[in-house]
Amino acid sequence: MEEGIRAYMRNVIGQQEYGKSNRSRVFQTIYAAKTISKQEIADKLQLSMPTVTQYLRELYAAGIIYKNGYYQSTGGRKAQAISVAALSVVAIGVELLRESIKISAVDLCGNVIREEFYIVPFSNNEAYYKHFGELVNAFADKLDTPEAHLLGVAIAVQGLVSKDGTVIVNGDILGYTGTTIDVFQRHINLPCHMFHDTEVAAFAELWDLPEIKDAVYIALNRNLGGAVIVNGQMFHGREFNGCIIEHMRLVPNGTKCYCGRRGCFEAYCSVASLEAETGMDTATFFKRLKDGDARCEGIFDQYLSYLALAINNIRMLIDCDFILGGFLDPYLTDQHIEMLAEKVRKESSFESTGFSFRRSRHGASAASRGAALLEIDAFIASV
Ligand SMILES: [Zn+2]
Repeated sequence: MEEGIRAYMRNVIGQQEYGKSNRSRVFQTIYAAKTISKQEIADKLQLSMPTVTQYLRELYAAGIIYKNGYYQSTGGRKAQAISVAALSVVAIGVELLRESIKISAVDLCGNVIREEFYIVPFSNNEAYYKHFGELVNAFADKLDTPEAHLLGVAIAVQGLVSKDGTVIVNGDILGYTGTTIDVFQRHINLPCHMFHDTEVAAFAELWDLPEIKDAVYIALNRNLGGAVIVNGQMFHGREFNGCIIEHMRLVPNGTKCYCGRRGCFEAYCSVASLEAETGMDTATFFKRLKDGDARCEGIFDQYLSYLALAINNIRMLIDCDFILGGFLDPYLTDQHIEMLAEKVRKESSFESTGFSFRRSRHGASAASRGAALLEIDAFIASV
């Protein structure tokens, strides 16, 4: 596409009245089917063949679908197979963490096509943002994708972001409340947006589990996070972008939390709290746990008890699926998860033999992938 995907989007968005709904339905039918014929599209959508032909012409011109061979003939002319051109649109997602940066590139079909991880300690100054931008630009250059086909850069930040994605309205964790998108955009060639990291991580899980209706996603990261999914959609709430379960109080007058209060879920179940309690990094802790270290077993049992208490509290309000993900995910064995599930069942006021968890599909990469997937999702909705 000569003029580029972003220009195409502007063009499409500028002409929303013109046939948008049917063109969009044609594209989404192809997207859902993976491969389909023109006749099948016409049948499914109850559109005439010339109408479908017109929309297909537009989608071919945009480069987002392609002719994918022919179906076996059952007599007469062989039907053309039509598929989505996965690499025609690529989005980049970046997760900004205290010690590191993770960058993922995702194509139009949601496939992860490149991923990189850098150890870069966060510092709220121009030199950091410049380095951040250079890493993102270099990553984009390494993709086998012309710049015109790159949608943009979605940055997942630890903190609450304004609804328009331009300001961090609460970023106390990294002391960058009030930071605007401009500090990133200045150094990044592609258009940028910011998102709350837990919310986009949950979106990545939702992308792969479309059967989920209602769920709570818990990100067991250095700092905890959570997101609520209602009826297959992210719940956005009012002030807090949906929820801040990490500051639900578990223990009155308990351990001090970074928010300034005491006894928060964060202070007992974040990776930071676990490492503070054990005095060792997570990898060492889980190795000792595996080797049967009694102190580590005691700490882990207490950790799971607090986690079960929090999950039971949430569950008493919302009876739904629970998805566990985040940094800790790769360390947790199925046996650990079953121990946790058993503790949740015991916490329940009523008999609850059926309770179990869903494991994350994306683990510690959920935020960067989810951020990119949100850009892809917005693109699909705009076609
Ligand atoms: Zn707190």
